[in-house]
Amino acid sequence: MKSILGFLLILLIQTAAIAAAASPAAASPAIAQDKINTGCQRCKFTGSLPCPKHNKTAAKIEEEAIFCSIAARCPVCKGTFVVDCPDCKGNDGEASVENAHAEAQRWLEKEANFEKNMGGPTRARVITKHFDLTFEVESLTVGRNVLDQHQLLHLYAQRLETLLADFNEILGTRETDHKCPRFLVMVWKSPVDNREAATRYADSGGSGTGVKLLGSKGVYTMVRDRNLHAQDDDLHRSIVHNVTHLLLADLFDAVWIGNRKGGWLDEGLAHWFEDKYFGQCTNFCYQEQNTLIAFKGGKWRMPVRAMVEINKMPPFAETGSKMSDQLTAAEHALAFSYVDFLLHRDPKLLPKVAYLYQKKKETREALEPYALSVNELEVQWKKWVLDKYTDRTGPGLK
Ligand SMILES: [Zn+2]
Ligand SMILES: [Zn+2]
Ligand SMILES: [Zn+2]
Ligand SMILES: [Zn+2]
Repeated sequence: MKSILGFLLILLIQTAAIAAAASPAAASPAIAQDKINTGCQRCKFTGSLPCPKHNKTAAKIEEEAIFCSIAARCPVCKGTFVVDCPDCKGNDGEASVENAHAEAQRWLEKEANFEKNMGGPTRARVITKHFDLTFEVESLTVGRNVLDQHQLLHLYAQRLETLLADFNEILGTRETDHKCPRFLVMVWKSPVDNREAATRYADSGGSGTGVKLLGSKGVYTMVRDRNLHAQDDDLHRSIVHNVTHLLLADLFDAVWIGNRKGGWLDEGLAHWFEDKYFGQCTNFCYQEQNTLIAFKGGKWRMPVRAMVEINKMPPFAETGSKMSDQLTAAEHALAFSYVDFLLHRDPKLLPKVAYLYQKKKETREALEPYALSVNELEVQWKKWVLDKYTDRTGPGLK
């Protein structure tokens, strides 16, 4: 009797072993039945349900975001917007919910470091393909709509990605030409936070409105000043100007050309992007800070034309060999116009000029991609201004 039982037992074990070998999914026969379950009516056989804590449109705003600290505050789904269906188990849907939650958890752990460094309440922060954006402005009117902080966070992140895409498209630069793996942009409500962020992330104790770290680590931290950045456009324009500096300074050798002879190109391009989106340039960079001072209402083509007409301005040879923070207000307008001229000629050559400045070339050599001498640039630019600056908008790109 004993031996028959023993034999049967061995037989059963062998059968189980054969079954397990035949199907890797059935390693444990007791769960096998559940694993082949394909879901239930409630979850429409997907294995997952939308997180009950949000309204129907909440997930839409997150589409471009890799991580959003506001969405991640949901204790149920950690910002993934999906939960496991409690009525069924063991299908693909369940595995993907588990993966999404684990991924969100990893981001939360990464973010804990930033939160710890900055202290205070949880910060509004979004991670997109190229930017880590912190945005501590509670509300702004955009067009006709009053947007809340969460909407603004995503809108500004999208605007940053647009700026980078436009920059690369216009200048013909590639993703691989940019040496900064991720740009860190922070817009604070409190000057104390801005100082803390400048010290921790921009290697600077600077107390200005905006502080930049330029090169292979691109960082811009600013405090929103209700006088300087009263409206959405003012704030957006300021960010466009300053982030353009980051995008130019991380190209190729990741060397900022604004403290070499390329100040005109560094500032001129930042102004050019302000003008592209807003038809107005209002941001000027001085040592470690960004201020708003007016020069001819920020609409510069006609005033530049007027300077050319009466021939009253410094020559390019002078403006074209200064550092960024040595430029006068009028020279900012001229720098914008030199860049406008060169981009109109061939936008794809401009990064090559920047590269030559990175290599410590003099302006004379840096202009070689355009096959212009310093003097020829001056002469041809003047002719072009008189020909093309007939109104505020200018000729644009060819
Ligand atoms: Zn289900
Ligand atoms: Zn979000
Ligand atoms: Zn949720
Ligand atoms: Zn600037």
